[in-house]
Amino acid sequence: MSNTNLPVLLLRNMVLFPFSEIRLEFDELEDKQLLSLAEAYYGNEILVVIPLDLLEEDPDINELPKCGVVGFIKMKMDMPNGKTRVTIEGKSRVKVKTYTKEENLVEANIDYSQKEVLPENKELAYIRTLTKELDVYTNEVPTMSNTLLPTILSLRTLTKVTDIMALTLPGTFSRKVEYIGEMSSITRAEMLLDDMKQDLEILKIEQEIENKLTKKLDKEQKDYILRERIQLIKEELGDVIDKDTEIEELRAHIQSCACSVKAKNRLLLELSRYEVMNPNSPEMGTIKNYIDILLSLPWGNYTTDCEDLNIVKSRLDNTHYGLDQVKTRILEYLAVKQNTKGLRSPIICLVGPPGVGKTSLAASIAISLGRNFTKISVGGVSDEAEIVGHRRTYIGSAPGLIIQGMKKAGTNNPVFIIDEIDKMTKDIKGDPASALLEVLDPEQNHAFVDHYIEEEYDLSKVMFITTANYLYQIPEALRDRLEIVELSSYTEYEKQDIAYKHLIPKQLEEHGLKKEDVAFTEGVILTLIRNYTKEAGVRELERMIATILRKIVKEHIITGKQDIYEITDYNLEKYLGKKKFIYNESEIFGSVGVVNGLAYTPCGGDILPIEATFYPGKGQLILTGSLGDVMKESATLSLSYIKSHADEFHIDASILVNNDIHIHVPEGAVPKDGPSAGVTITSTLLSLLTNTKVHTNIGMTGEMTLRGKVLPIGGLKEKVIGAHRGGIRKIFIPRINEKDLDSIPEEVKSEIKFILVDNYMDIYRELFNKFKRKSMSNNKELIQLPLN
Ligand code: ADP
Repeated sequence: MSNTNLPVLLLRNMVLFPFSEIRLEFDELEDKQLLSLAEAYYGNEILVVIPLDLLEEDPDINELPKCGVVGFIKMKMDMPNGKTRVTIEGKSRVKVKTYTKEENLVEANIDYSQKEVLPENKELAYIRTLTKELDVYTNEVPTMSNTLLPTILSLRTLTKVTDIMALTLPGTFSRKVEYIGEMSSITRAEMLLDDMKQDLEILKIEQEIENKLTKKLDKEQKDYILRERIQLIKEELGDVIDKDTEIEELRAHIQSCACSVKAKNRLLLELSRYEVMNPNSPEMGTIKNYIDILLSLPWGNYTTDCEDLNIVKSRLDNTHYGLDQVKTRILEYLAVKQNTKGLRSPIICLVGPPGVGKTSLAASIAISLGRNFTKISVGGVSDEAEIVGHRRTYIGSAPGLIIQGMKKAGTNNPVFIIDEIDKMTKDIKGDPASALLEVLDPEQNHAFVDHYIEEEYDLSKVMFITTANYLYQIPEALRDRLEIVELSSYTEYEKQDIAYKHLIPKQLEEHGLKKEDVAFTEGVILTLIRNYTKEAGVRELERMIATILRKIVKEHIITGKQDIYEITDYNLEKYLGKKKFIYNESEIFGSVGVVNGLAYTPCGGDILPIEATFYPGKGQLILTGSLGDVMKESATLSLSYIKSHADEFHIDASILVNNDIHIHVPEGAVPKDGPSAGVTITSTLLSLLTNTKVHTNIGMTGEMTLRGKVLPIGGLKEKVIGAHRGGIRKIFIPRINEKDLDSIPEEVKSEIKFILVDNYMDIYRELFNKFKRKSMSNNKELIQLPLN
């Protein structure tokens, strides 16, 4: 059976017809992922769609054509230069019911129900007429190859005849796209007959023109004649776009544009250059492009803000659960902005792990205020020209991200999100952070100048909101100007509430389902959270819910029955497959040489188990796992600390001399969080050297000095929430971090015992010195200590 859902490949500079093949080379990672997906799940099939707007890089799925060609990936080859070469065979033209988009992957739901059935005689009549016309056409048109006719003569179905002819006959790209979009082969046949007829007519006129124009011509005259010829042909076809009319339209548009007088004068100047320009000059397109971009920008177009902050609040509450502190900060900010008429209010920066609602909350602020919304991402930007544009003298120049964002916004006072400001980099091409500073600075941004536009553009009424994952990775100069609002990981309880109150209703609506159609039993969401996701936010959780609903919709359609579904712990695997994260009960009592640290990772907080073992050697320290330099230093420091206190810890000093010690951090992909693992590394070594198990429900975090003083750490809230999720119930934290305990949600805090420590000895006394232990001697058994 054919796939009812297929991943979509957007093709921009080629066409794929049924019964033909194309060869493509991919080097984008996303395209390669698409190929792998097609290979793994869709029997090597994809849907090839040509977007309506070829220039739009990331078209809206609602603007994609409702028709495409099912393509079969016949050959796929990875090349040494990193590209992937594929051959795709066009199978059939299909109607698309809906498109869905997840991450960057577009998926189409295909309607196979409309099969074309033609009366036999009619089909034959059309084939014959087409063949006859093609015969005439081939004889008349000198450039036409005469191999097409024999091919067509051997075919029996109109759909095949029309597709092969439409592919082979000369025609513009857009005309070919029209053929692809036409489901009826009869209509296609008629289009072909029309096209051939029109071509023959043009040819006739061309011959007439040829006869009229005589004599020997020098090059200039030849050019002139060619232009005349095109003009005459266009006039004959009646589709002439008179340049004069175009100029007049542009002039009227410029006159009515609400831009500054200076910008208007510049536009008029550019227009007069455009007017006298030789149509063959390459500069012509550049000038037209410039005029078009300036005219497409919003000028003097403002929406009116909703001034009632109660309404704004209730709208925010409707879209986002909780986040009370954040919402309050935002409302205060809006109040001040209203009171001061927007003068000099600092820019808000929402900081927090992925999926906790930064972008969607900002979008919701826009909707609540009644403003338009636009978003750019500056993650990975290393060239300031990407922000402020390239000069027009530069080949392929274009306006920067800010002006592009304004164009998308369509008004001059949108809410403008700048995502990932902590992920910009700096290189020889300039510092994007300082370019961004200019954009955000209320002193300067009323007269922002993009290098491409070269005219002042007022950004002072724009409400910029920036987002970042890590506060300390935001360039310092930028951080100074921002009003930081932190969003932190959600607890399991919060996630459950968000799921029931927001995500499930939202996804039900997006899947065209009613509340009564699907019931999620109590507890099943918790299983989803615990066993299928590992994240600070709720993005993955939302995706899981969407996956379940998608499968239900599919079943509805296949069976034709509107059953009521109940999602329980027992049938969850049917929808989502095996559990992805399982907490291992057998490890509950801990092992010698393994202690849990706490880490601040991109998915919020997590447990960071550190392991150590030793074996005969020369007293060396071996470190593995992806440890950063700071963590390596911590390890050396811990060992020195233990050596200097060996007597107090009842450790036989000769063990340290005659053995090599190996420390490993299995999930140590958090090098920048190095120093806070200090106390954990020391405890791991002590557990090993004193042969003491540390219970797995104990965790710790803290930087250590050589004298054992425990220094404060960052990200305590995320770490504690992550640790709680992983089953930790007792945590050692630096005393100086006591103040941060206030920010930890009560439901987490009440289940964890916190022990405040000033010096490492406080931890030692709790864990290792309850009764005086006999130190381990350097015997054979120690060598056998398992690594896990
Ligand atoms: P971020 O920008 O922080 O990475 P998003 O704003 O993209 O996160 O949020 C991811 C998804 O989670 C969105 O669909 C959003 O609606 C949902 N979401 C996050 N937090 C909440 C919340 N507090 N209430 C309701 N939905 C939320």
